[in-house]
Amino acid sequence: MSLRDSTTDFAGGGAGDRPASTRRGFDYLIVGAGFAGSVLAERLAAGLNKRVLVVDRRPHIGGNAYDYHDESGVLIHRYGPHIFHTNAQRIVDYLSRFTEWRPYEHRVLAQVDGQQVPIPINRTTLNRLYGLNLQTDEEAAEYLASRAEPVAHIRTSEDVVVNGIGRELYQKFFRGYTRKQWGLDPSQLDKSVTSRIPTRTNTDDRYFTDAFQQMPKHGYTKMFEKMLAHPNIKVMLNTDYREIRDEVQHDQLIFCGPIDEYFDYRFGKLPYRSLKFEHKQLDQEQFQAVGTVNYPSEDVPYTRISEYKHLTGQVHPKTSITYEYPSAEGDPYYPIPRPENAELYKRYQQLADETPGVTFVGRLGTYKYYNMDQVVGQALALYKRIEEAEHGAEAG
Ligand code: FAD
Ligand code: UDP
Repeated sequence: MSLRDSTTDFAGGGAGDRPASTRRGFDYLIVGAGFAGSVLAERLAAGLNKRVLVVDRRPHIGGNAYDYHDESGVLIHRYGPHIFHTNAQRIVDYLSRFTEWRPYEHRVLAQVDGQQVPIPINRTTLNRLYGLNLQTDEEAAEYLASRAEPVAHIRTSEDVVVNGIGRELYQKFFRGYTRKQWGLDPSQLDKSVTSRIPTRTNTDDRYFTDAFQQMPKHGYTKMFEKMLAHPNIKVMLNTDYREIRDEVQHDQLIFCGPIDEYFDYRFGKLPYRSLKFEHKQLDQEQFQAVGTVNYPSEDVPYTRISEYKHLTGQVHPKTSITYEYPSAEGDPYYPIPRPENAELYKRYQQLADETPGVTFVGRLGTYKYYNMDQVVGQALALYKRIEEAEHGAEAG
């Protein structure tokens, strides 16, 4: 494959110097055009004037956050609903260079016992589910305490929920959903997984309580286009790292794909969980009351249905929704947090530390169940280390 022919130049200009940069090679080759790779490409190009080539084996930029207009003209997320939320002002400030925002607070209902009730479980959930009339935080806290089954050593995703709210609510909201999502019982998963979902005694029905909750006003892909629109950055899509690694001269490699794949699975495969997305276009204005409805019951094979217009605010006579079907096969979407996997990852991490010229970053590169803002934070932190090393070298 010719590098020159397949390079996409989002800058619009700069094509004239392409053969020169090809001849000279690149300072950085970055594998993966998702958050990790795009943030680093932007910083290295704009902050340190490095020449960067970004490759991605998919036909688009944005990684799992990629969005596009489907045939109906509705803006949808190819890899399931992505809601931006963070407590870090500096991450918002950084991304704000590339996008305006639309305020959006995500709300989720769970289909339980024939009705749709708020998840995270809150006072409204308890009142609706059990026909109660809990009026205050204290009453709700007392009620939950009366159902909780204390667990001495909280290790697993079952322990943490049963300890907090008891077995019955655990079974209604968490057990089936988790078994479907991960193909494992919650007792086999690290507590960090279900700990992502709090329990509330008030009536706050937002999925997240972060200080910043907002969506890129014109979508994620538009934001990535701006991030990568620097004359020092070239992007090659439909290109696997393996295809070009011997062809493209580069001083440094930043790898945002699966770390075990990079090392040819030397110590065995790191387990990842996948999903199949079923996207549907409906000839109606609205499908459901909120952005996402969760289906914890094992009677249906999917975990949740999301309707994008709630997230994007798009006004359109039609609507589009996505069903998520968990799967063992397919693209690696979720690292699976459990002790044996963390051990295996550590071996790869050690190997990475001993391998000069390559740095691993991102959800797949560091095998971490990270949200988008955490990946941006990780990439910015890596950039800072690179910048400091450069300045140190200059000073020395
Ligand atoms: P990715 O986005 O996975 O990018 C890695 C890229 O590397 C991919 O495009 C891949 O094609 C490419 N690649 C890998 N190997 C190679 C190779 N050998 N050669 C070339 N290219 C390669 N986070 C939130 O904050 N809020 C949410 O609401 C949210 N919802 C999510 C819903 C789902 C269903 C999923 C799966 C994730 C969700 N996330 C959410 C997490 C979010 O997707 C990630 O935090 C973020 O996208 C990770 O960015 P990344 O750059 O590390 O990885
Ligand atoms: N979870 C659950 N029931 C729910 C929502 C979440 O059991 O209604 C558990 C499940 O194990 C899930 C985890 O909590 O994988 C984290 O949920 P989150 O919504 O954060 O998952 P993501 O958006 O990352 O897929």
